[in-house]
Amino acid sequence: MSRLQQQIKLIKRPVGLPTNEDFEFIEAPIEEPSEGEVLVRTVYISVDPYLRGRMNDVKSYIPPFKLNSVITSGVIAQVVESKSPKFEKNDIVIGSLGWQHYSVAKESEIRKVDANIAPASAYLSVLGMTGLTAYFGLLDIGQPKEGETVVVSGAAGAVGSIVGQIAKIKGANVIGIAGSDEKVKYLIEELGFDAAINYKTENVKMALNKACPNGIDVYFENVGGEIADAVFPLLNKFARIPVCGAISAYNSESIDIGPRVQSYLIKTSSLMKGFTVGDYGSRFQEGTEVLAGWLQEGKLKYEETVTEGFDQTIDAFLDLFEGRNIGKAVVKVSEIE
Ligand code: NAP
Repeated sequence: MSRLQQQIKLIKRPVGLPTNEDFEFIEAPIEEPSEGEVLVRTVYISVDPYLRGRMNDVKSYIPPFKLNSVITSGVIAQVVESKSPKFEKNDIVIGSLGWQHYSVAKESEIRKVDANIAPASAYLSVLGMTGLTAYFGLLDIGQPKEGETVVVSGAAGAVGSIVGQIAKIKGANVIGIAGSDEKVKYLIEELGFDAAINYKTENVKMALNKACPNGIDVYFENVGGEIADAVFPLLNKFARIPVCGAISAYNSESIDIGPRVQSYLIKTSSLMKGFTVGDYGSRFQEGTEVLAGWLQEGKLKYEETVTEGFDQTIDAFLDLFEGRNIGKAVVKVSEIE
């Protein structure tokens, strides 16, 4: 008889903020790999805000999760059994895999990671999807120049913390907006941001006015809503706005309507451009190499909020909407052997 494992399935489409009732832990057999496949043990699960969008039954850049199927996200895993010439037992791999203890993956669905460059979990953060999002969104769309002012929201999170540091590498003045005094302190003291604003306790408009006496040249948008509303009046001529995310609206039950942006964009000839990291798929190797170089030179730091235990995966995901993470939120499911 095959061994059993736990999986997490989406059983209801969340309305507003998801709750534990939208998910179910179930027991299922561990599958056997066929030729060209490997059996892997989950080590780290990435929990990400974009997964919330996949829980809705709406058309997007990535298909919605099917009800009663296992949720998937970025996973670091270790090979237990290989039926592929490309992988050996104990290799550390990354792929978009299920929220479960063990997965069978086709050899084309996973790739090896080099744990000599950085700890394996870094391939879910600074050297993975969120680091690449920061790199391409900021440099390709934001294009910060020396002496310019860059504002980033969601600044202490996985993407925002890397955006701010890359902007510093490019010689910009960097202002972060985040949701606690601890995060503000972290941004200034640990990451070298020039200023940071706690949007939960400060008047963001007034604080931005003070922190950006020369206006704003780049606004890296992670959250949308009232924080973005406070930024638009301060845009400089030819400002750039990479629109990466809008987490403040992800759990909204009604359409998010705020001040219209058109007049600000026209007056300032600003560029506002949405993107997904997948747009830059053909340049991932370049991005990873540059980020790894900065990491090794000590120019880039990264933080992780590691939640221990598979049974805490839903809570770790929900914590994103409460701002409980600093840096990348991951769940540690097992040890690397
Ligand atoms: P993250 O910033 O590590 O975690 C989410 C953070 O959002 C929380 O820690 C919280 O920090 C903040 N937040 C939660 N609810 C909020 C609200 N109502 N208003 C303002 N801030 C709120 O997540 P991430 O992975 O780096 O993602 C950041 C953004 O980028 C998300 O919008 C995500 O969807 C987007 N993203 C886009 C791409 C792409 O390809 N376009 C790729 C990755 C991520 P505070 O304590 O500061 O509130």
